Amino acid sequence: MKKIAIIGAGPAGIYTTILLKSHQGEVHLFEQNNDIGEKLKTTGGGRMNITNKVFSDQEFSSSSTNLYKKIFKNPHIKNRFEIFEKLGIEFEYEKNRAILASQDAVAEVARLRRKIQAQPNALLHCGEKITDIIPQNNQFQLHTNKENDQFFDAVVITTGGMFRLFDLNSAEECYQLSIQLGHHITPLSPSLCPLIFQDKDLRTLSGITFEGILKDEVNNVFIQNDILITHFGLSGPAVLDFSACYKSPQITLAFTTIKEHDFITRFNTARSGKQGLRKFLKQFVPERVAAFCIAKSDIQQQFIADMPKKKLQKLCQTLFHYPIPPPQPNSYPASWTTKGGIKLEDINTATLESKIVPHLFFAGEVLDINGLCGGYNISFAAISAQIVADAVLKETKKCRSF
Ligand SMILES: Cc1cc2nc3c(=O)[nH]c(=O)nc-3n(C[C@H](O)[C@H](O)[C@H](O)COP(=O)(O)OP(=O)(O)OC[C@H]3O[C@@H](n4cnc5c(N)ncnc54)[C@H](O)[C@@H]3O)c2cc1C
Repeated sequence: MKKIAIIGAGPAGIYTTILLKSHQGEVHLFEQNNDIGEKLKTTGGGRMNITNKVFSDQEFSSSSTNLYKKIFKNPHIKNRFEIFEKLGIEFEYEKNRAILASQDAVAEVARLRRKIQAQPNALLHCGEKITDIIPQNNQFQLHTNKENDQFFDAVVITTGGMFRLFDLNSAEECYQLSIQLGHHITPLSPSLCPLIFQDKDLRTLSGITFEGILKDEVNNVFIQNDILITHFGLSGPAVLDFSACYKSPQITLAFTTIKEHDFITRFNTARSGKQGLRKFLKQFVPERVAAFCIAKSDIQQQFIADMPKKKLQKLCQTLFHYPIPPPQPNSYPASWTTKGGIKLEDINTATLESKIVPHLFFAGEVLDINGLCGGYNISFAAISAQIVADAVLKETKKCRSF
C-alpha cells in the first residue's frame, strides 16, 4: 500500500495524516471545505476539550454494544496521551477535562495545518470534494469535484457526521461514499444539543453558569455537571449530555448539587440563629439564582427563623425540581455530534478496516460510536486515527517484505 487517500480533514483525518508520517509512500488528505478542521475550530467554544480523566466505554454509546466495547479494549484507549504527544497537542486540566493549553482552537488548527504542510509524504487538497470511490484491480479510483481522478492503494473515510458548517446535506448524501461501497448506516439522530425552550423568567438569569442536575425522573436519567442559562434555554456540559439520553419531556432542574434532605437539615439547623435567607442560599447557588428562587417561591420573609414550613417546601420545589418546559426536538445545526453512523458489524474492530472492501478504513465520528461531552469525541478521533495508522503501516510493511 503506497498511496493512501484520507477523505475529510476534521480531527480524525488530520490526525490520521500526521500519524502516518513514517509511511513510505504518499498520504493525500482531501477536504471539501477551503480549510481543514472547520468544525474543530469551534470546539469547546474555541477552547477545545481534548480528553477526560474519566474515560471508559461508559461515556460512549453505539447500537452495536458488544462490538464498541471490543474497541475499548484496544491499548490505545489507555495510551491516548502518547497519541496526543505524537500529535504535539498540549493541554491542561480543568476539573476532569483536558483543555487545549492555548485555549485557541483556531490557532491549534493552524498549527496542525503547518505540521501537515511540513510533512514530506503528505499532500493537502482543500476545496476538493470526493464524489465517488470506485474499487478496481486492488486499487481505488477517486473522483473529485475538480475532475482530478487519481488511483490509491488504500482509502480512509473520515467524513464525520451530519453537522456541516456551510452545507447541511441529507443523510444519504453525507454517507453516500460508504453506502455505495456496501456499508450499512445505523439510525442517525442529532446528539449533544442545547435545550431550546421558552421560559421568560429563567431567561432573566441568562449568562449564569452553575453546577446543577438535569432530571428525567420518569426514566431515571440524572446528569450532574456545569449548566449555562442562555437566552434560548440551557446549554453547557450537563445539558449536552442530557440531550443524548433523556426520553420524557417532563424535565426538571436542580440549581444545586446538595441533596435535598441535607439541604433541609441544614436549613432547620439554621432556624435557631438569625441568618438571612439570601445569605444562607448563597452557600449553594449563585447570588442571582438565590434571589430568583426566593421570588419564584413567593417568599417575603428575610430571615430563615421566620419561614413557615410550607414556604420551605415551596423553596425546595423551586431549587430542586424547577420544571423545564418541553424543549424543541434536537436539531442538526444545533448539535455537536451525530448519533449513529457506519455499522460496526461491517468493520474489523481491531483495525477499523472494512469487512466488505479490503484496504478501506474508517475513523472518527463517521462510525457508530458516540461520545458524551467533555473531550470524548476528539479523543475518539485521535484513538481511531492511531488504530487505522497502525493497520496501514503494518499492512505496508507486510507487502514490502514479500
Ligand atoms: C460547537 C461544537 C463544539 C464541540 N466541542 C467539542 C469538544 O470540546 N471536545 C470534543 O471532544 N468534541 C467536541 N465536539 C465534537 C467534535 O468536534 C466532533 O466529534 C469531531 O469534529 C469529529 O471529527 P471527525 O474528523 O470525525 O469529523 P468532522 O470534524 O465532522 O470532519 C469531517 C470532515 O470531512 C469533510 N468531508 C465530508 N465529506 C467529504 C467529501 N466527500 N470529500 C471531502 N471532504 C469531506 C467535512 O467537510 C469535514 O471537514 C464539538 C462539536 C461542535 C459542533
